[in-house]
Amino acid sequence: MPQLNENFLRLEKNYLFINIAKKIKAFKEAVPSADIIRMGIGDVTLPIPPVVIEAMKKGCDEMGVKETFRGYEDSGAGYDFLREAVSGYYKSFGADVAADEIRINDGAKSDCGNIVDIFGNDNVILVTDPAYPVYVDSNLMCGRKIIYADSNEENGFAAMPDYSVHADIIYLCSPNNPTGSVYTREQLEVWVDYAKKNNAVIIYDSAYEAFITDPAVPRSIYCIEGAKEVAIEMCSLSKTAGFTGMRCGYTVVPEALKVIASDGTEVSVAQIWGRRQGSKFNGVSYPVQCAAAAVFTEEGLRQIHENIAYYQENARIIADTMTKLGVKFTGGINSPYIWFKCPNGMGSWEFFDLMLEKIAVVGTPGAGFGKNGEGWFRLTAFGDRQRTIEAMERFSGLVSEMTK
Ligand code: PLP
Repeated sequence: MPQLNENFLRLEKNYLFINIAKKIKAFKEAVPSADIIRMGIGDVTLPIPPVVIEAMKKGCDEMGVKETFRGYEDSGAGYDFLREAVSGYYKSFGADVAADEIRINDGAKSDCGNIVDIFGNDNVILVTDPAYPVYVDSNLMCGRKIIYADSNEENGFAAMPDYSVHADIIYLCSPNNPTGSVYTREQLEVWVDYAKKNNAVIIYDSAYEAFITDPAVPRSIYCIEGAKEVAIEMCSLSKTAGFTGMRCGYTVVPEALKVIASDGTEVSVAQIWGRRQGSKFNGVSYPVQCAAAAVFTEEGLRQIHENIAYYQENARIIADTMTKLGVKFTGGINSPYIWFKCPNGMGSWEFFDLMLEKIAVVGTPGAGFGKNGEGWFRLTAFGDRQRTIEAMERFSGLVSEMTK
């Protein structure tokens, strides 16, 4: 009989969004007429801009013609035209990333999970809490020790390293999901310094970088000097350009990132990662890579920014509502997430139930992202404008009533 990888049995039985879906289903059965507004799941809702769709169609047409048909892509790292485009994009906000340091993938979630393959199981993993669940789950699956750095109200949900504690692999996410907080340049400099002193590797998730409006906030870990020696970065077109259903992202493993093997030899992490991907990943389809490259053209960037601006305005509406009501929150600026403190000291799930029952608005209980999320709640700005306004009117009514 095959043995299971019993680490899987240590995972939470019910993934957060399955729990939420169950509660919504039960509520709908009890109150069929309820007009539910969903501000929970972090999926985008606006269609992909025309210039991107045109590029994908052109890529599809090329696949139907003998002279331009393409089969397996030779490198598996992505077509040069896209890697060059991503490199140019990085340079536009001050991060010097070369095309050959970039590998194209089917989104950030896959690589956040897959990167664990190239590191040994005895590493100490540091995750900021609360966090995007993939960092924890993918390490629990291989039985690793995870330690946490607390993100909380006191530090503005931007955890900083404790130099008295050693970690080998560090997960950072900025702008953060779920808290919407961002790391400043100075804070990232401290993390890079900590990583150097501990010979650690930072896995930096910048999936929401396109939402950063403050020019002082770094859009990449590589805006920090010396980061290339200690950091891998993962980014995605999911939220930048509405690619959640198209699937395309990119991971940067710099040439300068080296790890010492047990026999004392210096090993290039990029080389090991390339080896892993070469065996287990066949790359992203040609038409999708054509679409992705169109995102980084002048017209592509203009069009995707119209969508991002729409979500940013939703975020502003939500954030303004919180400010008016005197509800504490982070995010909403530089981020599509608003992370607020549940009124009257309520627990996250308790407040979830209350919102659903009283105003039929669905969000995400902060407790689902880690222990420091308890008592906090996440709303997303990815919805429809009118529905966002309506949700905030209902929310204002509820909170005013509760805090009277
Ligand atoms: N990283 C963070 C922080 C996210 O919130 C998400 C998606 O919600 C992802 C990565 C994964 O994005 P994708 O796999 O769609 O590129």
